[in-house]
Amino acid sequence: MAVNSPAFRSTFCYAVPPRLNISAGQAVWVPFGSRVIQGIVLGLSAEPSIEETKEITGIIADVPLLSPVQMKLAQWISKHYFAPLFDALALTLPPGFERQAITCFQLADFHVENLLSLPPEQKQVLDIIGEKGKTSLAELEKAIGKEKTRQITDQLLAHKLVIKTLELEEPRVKAKTLPYIKLIANRKDVEVEKARLNKSRAYKQAELLAFLNEQSQSIAISELRKRLNCSAATIKALESRNLVSVERVRVRRDPLAHLSFTISQPPILTSSQETAWESIQDVVTGKAWQSGKPPVFLLFGVTGSGKTEIYLRALAKVITSGKRGICLIPEIALTRQTVERFAGRFPGRVAVLHSGLSLGEQFDEWQRIIEGNCDVVIGPRSALFAPVPGLGLIIIDEEHEWTYKQEDKSPRYHARDVAIELAQLSDAIVILGSATPDIGSFYKAKQGEYELVELKERITPRGYSPLPEVKIVDLREELKAGNTSLLSRPLLAAMKETLVQGQQTVLFLNRRGTATFVRCRNCGFVFRCPRCSIALTYHSMEKKLICHRCRYSLPIRQSCPRCSQRNLRFLGIGTQRVEEEIRHFFPEARLLRWDRDVITRRYAHEELLKNFRDHKADVLIGTQMIAKGLDLPQVTLAGIINADTGLNFPDFRSSERTFQLLCQVAGRAGRGVKAGRVIIQTYSPDNYIIETAARHDYLGFYYKEIDYRRRYNYPPFSQLVRLVYSHTSEEICRHEAERVYQLLIDEKTREGMVDFNVIGPVPAFAIRARGRYRWQLFLRGPDSTRILSELSLPRGWTIDVDPVGMV
Ligand code: ADP
Ligand code: ZN
Repeated sequence: MAVNSPAFRSTFCYAVPPRLNISAGQAVWVPFGSRVIQGIVLGLSAEPSIEETKEITGIIADVPLLSPVQMKLAQWISKHYFAPLFDALALTLPPGFERQAITCFQLADFHVENLLSLPPEQKQVLDIIGEKGKTSLAELEKAIGKEKTRQITDQLLAHKLVIKTLELEEPRVKAKTLPYIKLIANRKDVEVEKARLNKSRAYKQAELLAFLNEQSQSIAISELRKRLNCSAATIKALESRNLVSVERVRVRRDPLAHLSFTISQPPILTSSQETAWESIQDVVTGKAWQSGKPPVFLLFGVTGSGKTEIYLRALAKVITSGKRGICLIPEIALTRQTVERFAGRFPGRVAVLHSGLSLGEQFDEWQRIIEGNCDVVIGPRSALFAPVPGLGLIIIDEEHEWTYKQEDKSPRYHARDVAIELAQLSDAIVILGSATPDIGSFYKAKQGEYELVELKERITPRGYSPLPEVKIVDLREELKAGNTSLLSRPLLAAMKETLVQGQQTVLFLNRRGTATFVRCRNCGFVFRCPRCSIALTYHSMEKKLICHRCRYSLPIRQSCPRCSQRNLRFLGIGTQRVEEEIRHFFPEARLLRWDRDVITRRYAHEELLKNFRDHKADVLIGTQMIAKGLDLPQVTLAGIINADTGLNFPDFRSSERTFQLLCQVAGRAGRGVKAGRVIIQTYSPDNYIIETAARHDYLGFYYKEIDYRRRYNYPPFSQLVRLVYSHTSEEICRHEAERVYQLLIDEKTREGMVDFNVIGPVPAFAIRARGRYRWQLFLRGPDSTRILSELSLPRGWTIDVDPVGMV
């Protein structure tokens, strides 16, 4: 049994009382300490593993909520990511599942005389309970305060004046039902009744009867009210004569109700798609699996090369064989485009699942999925845990995206790795798609662990067409020429042209890592660690530049050590400032800003994108969001305000990340009828990352990067684990980090683990988050998690296995 208690990774053993019929995968209530909490039955055995077991309190749902595969998957997640088992199981539980048991009080049987001598406070509480009936602890606390409630209820319990019970919280979500009305009288009776009603001047009833007689099926009362002016009394009257019946009917809350789709036919594949498809199609349905295991494909295709079309084909084939699929996308913001394409191809058979839906919608979609009423589920990483029966295919679009890793809460899983595990357990194949694959994924493809399938040409309405031309602008030259604006002269000129021609521009601003490092605006010099050569991070609290790898630090200074100019820059630039500058240069241009500050409402992403696609704006300024696979046919210019921002991030993945962003943004231009171009603004024009991105040269970048990883023993050549300790006192924080560091070093020495390193301890990038200091350590070695199982970390530590970043 796994129980819903945050602190426990282990499982517990409970007795099954004879009155209950329990099977594996079922959700139950169990006593735990002084409380009753939720549990999931993982398995049954004839012999208890401990001597004394408590009994299961009751059943939450009659049928098992989890399949054997889902339970195995949760166990794998818990083990791999060092996460509490219930957290891992919770990923697969239905929306709104988590509930608590509440303590309630009700009056005991007593004689009123007993009350005469009671102090007024106790009487008051009895009055409250007397009035309300069953009263929850929370209600009492609200009325008279926490401390008093405890005191007085204890006294009342001792006097046997009240009884304490445990009640289960109401489910937060249920199936939605609406009252429907239908005719039950037969035709002959209807005529007779109508005549009778008219005679007795009950015209309304007669009218309703006539109306219902014309309906072929039952009708929602709300709908009826819209079409016919009739009162509840009228309905009641007919109901009481057994002429009509009113029943609650389950209705579906449809999250796609606001979209409209055009049904589409599959296009004829282009010749390169045909080649790619040939290597996939035979294995999709389980024929010809070499090695007996279902394969993982890496579909490596430049932006706009028709990867989505391959996904759709693969899905169609899987569906024909009676199975179903899941398609993961990196962002909710992108759901609409993808959903429209999928729904157009598989009308009525697409489900979406994401946290932006109401709980009711999530619940209904979940039901539809588990009942087998759709063929494909689309959503962000959490959609992976949808209860799809007969899973045959998992697609991960833009597989390099970092949003596939859950970082903020346990379990800190990566959807790609979990998907591959799930696929192995369910005999499903996986297709990973990207124009800029994750370095680790590409390495695995090169090693033969994944099957590499390539799409080299870009498809546009002009036919195959080359990727857009990229121009690199050296910002140092701009400064020399006296241009201190964020927009270089070539970018301004290109924007002007684009505006005049009535086409669209996207401008990309990398916000991650702005204001963290210090650069000379005159010569481009960046402060780096003399030992590790990564950029130093500016810590405003200490007024210091700190190396996040080795803790080398440097007091902040006013002038550049290389050119002695006092022109250092700390501050990041925001989208707002870009917006202001554009307004200055192009007062007429219609601007849209897309970042997380602007997007707060539901559907705001969809609206914004739709407005832009409908050409209601000329320029879109955005952060990371616009780099994520959008198809914007009227965009002919993509500008990157500052390509260097991400480069100086103190992280071994910063090059990869920057390269991917640059390529993805560049890929936005020229997807429509007109060719596009790209302008990259940078202070380091000969950096290989910028050079390779400008040539759209993934392989060139990959070979450099994989060499670097191998040399410094970073993933995929090692496993990385991040340990973060947080505490309100910085002193304690540092001490604890140092203590654990020492423990790990001792263990390393004892075990003679030569290729194992402990990096740190260093303050986390955002050293103070939510009022707590954070210090971190990194483990790097062939099997970093092994050492963790030897270690018991106190509260306050979080473990992140295979972190996507180091900051
Ligand atoms: P990717 O997923 O690789 O970015 P898409 O599948 O979105 O590429 O394809 C890019 C564009 O080309 C889309 O507008 C798509 O409709 C179109 N397209 C893809 N395959 C074909 C085809 N076989 N024939 C015609 N148009 C196609
Ligand atoms: Zn250093």
